[in-house]
Amino acid sequence: MYEQTAKYFLIIFIAGLFNMNTALADTPLAIVIHGGAGTITRASMTDEKEATIRAALKASVQAGYRELVKGATSTEAVVAAIKVLEDSPLFNAGKGAVFNAAGNNEMDASIMEGAGLNAGAVASVAHIRNPIDLALSVMTDSEHVMMMGEGAEEFARQKGFEMMDPAYFHTDFRWQQLQRIKAKETAQQEQRDQWFSTVGAVALDRNGDLAAGTSTGGTSNKRWGRVGDSPIIGAGTYANNNSCAVSATGHGEYFIRYVVAYNICNRVESGTPLSEAADTVINDILVKAKGQGGVIAMDHSGNITTPFNSEGMYRASIDTDGEMTISIYREEGEPEPALMGNVEH
Ligand code: ASP
Repeated sequence: MYEQTAKYFLIIFIAGLFNMNTALADTPLAIVIHGGAGTITRASMTDEKEATIRAALKASVQAGYRELVKGATSTEAVVAAIKVLEDSPLFNAGKGAVFNAAGNNEMDASIMEGAGLNAGAVASVAHIRNPIDLALSVMTDSEHVMMMGEGAEEFARQKGFEMMDPAYFHTDFRWQQLQRIKAKETAQQEQRDQWFSTVGAVALDRNGDLAAGTSTGGTSNKRWGRVGDSPIIGAGTYANNNSCAVSATGHGEYFIRYVVAYNICNRVESGTPLSEAADTVINDILVKAKGQGGVIAMDHSGNITTPFNSEGMYRASIDTDGEMTISIYREEGEPEPALMGNVEH
C-alpha cells in the first residue's frame, strides 16, 4: 500500500515537473519601460543627446529582460530595469531627480505585483539612492503599503539601506531647469506643468505574473511636501494578473484624479482590449481634462501598449517574440499630440 502511494506521488511529481517545464517554455516573457513623457521633439534634441538617451533606455530594458530570461520574477525585472534609470543622471528619478521649489530633491516610488496585489510605495524621500528598492522593501519587509518622509528614511536605515548625501542627487541640468522655471513663474502660477522624465517598468515573467513599478523626483519647482501620482497605487502604478499592469508618467494631479493606472486595468478586466482601454483613458478622458502624459501597459498575454497625449515619451520594450523597440517621438502615422504644453524635458 505504502509503495503504491509512493509510486503514485512520484508519478504526479514527475508529471508536474514535465508540465512545469512545458509551461515554462511556452510562457511568454515581456518587458516595457518608460523614461517620462513631455515636450520631446526632434527639434529640441541633439544627435548626441538622443544617442545617450537611447543607450540608457536600451540598458534598462535589457537589464530587466535579462532577469526574466534567468527565471527571475517580474518584480525583480521591474526593479532591475528601474534602477538603471535611477542611477542615470538623464532621468527624473534617483540621481537625476528634479528639485522642488525649496531647492531640495523629494523622491517617490512604488511597485505592485499582479499575482497577490502586494504593493509597496515611498513618498518624499531625500537620501535613498534607489527609491524603488525602498518601495520593494516596504512591500516585502513591512506590513504597510506606503511610507513617507523621515519615517520611510528611518525604516531604510534600519534595513541597512545606504543613505546618500543630497549632493549625490544634485545635477547641474536639473538645477538650471529649476532656475529657468522660477524665472518664468507668474503671479497666476501658470507654470504648473513641469514634469520630466519620470521612469517606470512593467514586466511579465515565466510564471505568467505581471508587475509594475514607477520612480520619480516629481515635478520641478513643486511645493515642498507635494506628492504626485507615481507612488500612489492605482494612479501611477497598478498590476493585477486578471487584467493588466501599468506605469504612468505625466501631470500627476490629473493621474490621481482619474485613477489612471487602475482605470485602465478595470476596463481590461471588464473585457475591453488593453490598447483600447489605455487609449480611452489617455487620449480621451485625460485629454478632455487637459491632463498631459502617458502610460506603458501590458496585459497577462504580454500585449504591450504605450499611448501618450504629449509630444513624446521615452519608451522601450522587448516583446513576447524577443523584439526590442526603442522610441522617443511619435511614430510615423500617429496623430498629432492632443496636448502640447510648455514642458521641458
Ligand atoms: N507623474 C509624475 C508626478 O506628477 C511626474 C512625471 O511623470 O514626470 O510626480
